[in-house]
Amino acid sequence: MAAPFELPALPYDDTYLAPVIGQETVQLHHGKHHATYFAKLNPLVEGTEMADMSLEDVVKASFGKADMKGVFNNAGQAWNHIFYWNQFAGGSSEVSGRLKEMAERDFGSVDGMMDAIVNTGAGVFGSGWSWLALENGKLVTQGVPGGENPVAHGATALCGIDVWEHAYYLDYQNRRPDHIKDVLTKLVNWSWVGERLEEAL
Ligand code: MN
Repeated sequence: MAAPFELPALPYDDTYLAPVIGQETVQLHHGKHHATYFAKLNPLVEGTEMADMSLEDVVKASFGKADMKGVFNNAGQAWNHIFYWNQFAGGSSEVSGRLKEMAERDFGSVDGMMDAIVNTGAGVFGSGWSWLALENGKLVTQGVPGGENPVAHGATALCGIDVWEHAYYLDYQNRRPDHIKDVLTKLVNWSWVGERLEEAL
């Protein structure tokens, strides 16, 4: 996908994630927030070498550059939310296979991995993301501000929980940890996460 970058349609209808993520939240989050990141990104990259890059390469090329903060913020969020919606497609499933083995090795247990993602997200001050990532052969969590992600930090994204208030406030108000836990246990398709892990190993 090169510029102009386009907002992908949701891979399910807007009630698919309810009640954990209600229809109104999905409509605003995808149709307004996610769409706006694309609308802001395109004029920023138009006519530059980044217009011919993939969205992921724009994220990598703009990260940490003082004069490209606007590009990074919008490209990062455009990429993050595509990942976010896709990880729920197919429906909730159990952690299994190599992902389960590595969760037990790196977090003590599958529950330990879930708790780490919740705690990492609870610890993000203000807006950001809690990611499960593969970094140097290990599963880790990354709590990051704004639109950052494991790709920007040289790791592989496996699961990403949006902890901006727009992601949960209508459904959970201030209860961010409860929201994260419910997303992990009721929405994430862990088979999809496991496939991403296998591809990256
Ligand atoms: Mn968001």
